[in-house]
Amino acid sequence: MKKVISITFSIIIGLVSFTAIIGFLSLRANLVFSDKQSRIMFPENNNEDVSVLPTSVSMINTATSNFPGWIVSNKGGLDKVVMYYTFFEINYPDNTSILVDTAVTEEFVDKILSTIDDEVQFHKEGQQKFLEDAGRARYIIFTHEHNDHLAGLKSLDESTVINKALMSEEQLDSQEYPSEWIPDGWKNKIKTFHFDQNGTYSLSPGVTLIRTPGHTRGSLSVLVKLQNNQTIFLIGDTTWSYDALKKNALKPLLVSKLMIQENRTQIMELMNAFNNLTEDVLLVPSHDGKYLNDLIFGGRIINGLK
Ligand SMILES: [Zn+2]
Repeated sequence: MKKVISITFSIIIGLVSFTAIIGFLSLRANLVFSDKQSRIMFPENNNEDVSVLPTSVSMINTATSNFPGWIVSNKGGLDKVVMYYTFFEINYPDNTSILVDTAVTEEFVDKILSTIDDEVQFHKEGQQKFLEDAGRARYIIFTHEHNDHLAGLKSLDESTVINKALMSEEQLDSQEYPSEWIPDGWKNKIKTFHFDQNGTYSLSPGVTLIRTPGHTRGSLSVLVKLQNNQTIFLIGDTTWSYDALKKNALKPLLVSKLMIQENRTQIMELMNAFNNLTEDVLLVPSHDGKYLNDLIFGGRIINGLK
């Protein structure tokens, strides 16, 4: 018994020191990069026919898990953070849409997410919605090349992928390309697009893709201008938490550098740029369950499952 207590004590001391070191290093990273500034180039949509712009953005949650706050950001504390695994749908008045990211599958939840949180819940109705709506989609695009945003692609039939899936060259060539979740031979069937010199690509009326590398090399954000003149910016995983973004808090070094290999300089530049946008833009990260629910409650985005 004594031995058990002594081992437990050593583990606690070890964890506390480790967290303190990580916290200190993260703080230093904040100080080093906080004065950097980059500019997000917004497209000029002059003379755009308002009637062809999207009418709304829906969020569909396909799985829910809980992370300790200190894993989500270096100012996250000890409280649990509700993480959603989402895809978004940009809805057009002609009943077509653009799907942003793919729903996670039950296989992905069982194989991957359950190893991080054994209480993770898969929401089958979310994945079904993705499969149903892929038929009317103009495009299926990806905020970045991580499994939790790509894994659902292989639940689609091949012709849908050939006709609708679209990636930037950086996304398609990425070393993080998850071959397990993309069937053999599909890579050369996914169409690519090129950003212009400002790092923007005009995809469809009201929808512009903006190059925002940092979380991964191929990360992009999706700028949506709605008919009602609101602008929504789907910013993927540049931050996992809106609160962290407002506090300019990076993910902890352990997660960011060792596990994901993010470019923290680029992420800090992006967070500064997002926080200093002069236009009225609604910033929407992919995973922040509480914030996404607040946006639905406030009528800013729609719950796609209702
Ligand atoms: Zn993600």
